[in-house]
Amino acid sequence: MKKVMLTGDRPTGKLHVGHYVGSLRRRVELQNTGDFDDIFIMIADAQALTDNADNPEKVRQNIVEVALDYLACGLDPEKSTLFIQSQVPELCELSFYYMNLVTVSRLQRNPTVKAEIQMRNFEASIPVGFFTYPISQAADITAFKATTVPVGEDQMPMLEQTKEIVHKFNSVYGETLVDPKILLPENEACMRLPGIDGKAKMSKSLNNCIYLSEEPEEIKKKVFSMFTDPMHIRIEDPGKLEGNTVFTYLDAFCRPEYFPEFLPEYANLDELKEHYKRGGLGDMKVKRFLNSVLQAELEPIRTRRKEFQKDIPAVYEILKKGSEKAEAVAAETLREVKAAMKINYFDDMALIKEQSEKFAE
Ligand code: ATP
Ligand code: MG
Repeated sequence: MKKVMLTGDRPTGKLHVGHYVGSLRRRVELQNTGDFDDIFIMIADAQALTDNADNPEKVRQNIVEVALDYLACGLDPEKSTLFIQSQVPELCELSFYYMNLVTVSRLQRNPTVKAEIQMRNFEASIPVGFFTYPISQAADITAFKATTVPVGEDQMPMLEQTKEIVHKFNSVYGETLVDPKILLPENEACMRLPGIDGKAKMSKSLNNCIYLSEEPEEIKKKVFSMFTDPMHIRIEDPGKLEGNTVFTYLDAFCRPEYFPEFLPEYANLDELKEHYKRGGLGDMKVKRFLNSVLQAELEPIRTRRKEFQKDIPAVYEILKKGSEKAEAVAAETLREVKAAMKINYFDDMALIKEQSEKFAE
């Protein structure tokens, strides 16, 4: 079986470091292994419109921002197909047929959708499109016969929903769709990176982000405003690591080589953590280290982004070509789906013959 990766992001803002550790970094690594037959990276504008219906301009503006972030992180259009969801209308058609395989109560049980409804104050008036977006995600994944979907932890319920649709479809209509596997980050801190406020996950909608394209001064300001252990008041006080955002970020971003470079008095992160827990290590010192780490991680991304920013028409051309390729692949899957569902009347010679015989006498 072909190995196919699919994943994407909503164009509701620039991408942030949560996206990077949750999915983007992994995508680029996987892309560069050369192990995949096909890689599809989708800018999910149609999904973004499900909770931004009154603000299409926001979605429109952020398409190119997300594309620039992709290119800056090392997604390579020669190796990965970058495309825009709305430009592949087959995805809507697939969603429409999958809707028959899912119950309202099943959608209501989706914990991510539940949390997002609350976050957006949709309780009294949930747009139908928003409520059903897990079904449209199943269409996105299955249209490309994705085998691997690298995403953050919040996407687990979506993958479960997709798998259920695949199983249901295949059992009702015959083996047609491919069962995808979720690929979560290996590191706990990366599954759901908290925001700089230490609350919830970092999310464009919550205004608690460090963006990939952020300037050095801004990164520094955000790091120094970060939440630590509120009981760690004097340097000599013992500190707590649980819920300490600065250490969570170090878990997510620190590489062994950063110690000799920026903090040579410690051999590794474990030693730093031990000292913090014991007492005698101040928050400022840890924050200064985290700032150096983040600056080192983000500097090459920011520089590459500025290069791509010089030729915006070329970025749109990449997305246009990618969308054309994606549409061709999705159209083939849709043909197979319609054949399995027996709604391919005009290519079904056996049907035409059978009906002719029925009416012959
Ligand atoms: P929005 O607030 O518009 O939903 P978002 O910040 O949640 O935006 P998405 O576009 O919904 O971003 O998510 C894109 C991908 O990034 C998904 O795979 C998601 O799991 C991952 N992701 C988003 N935020 C985080 C985070 N804080 N930690 C780890 N992964 C994340
Ligand atoms: Mg989200």
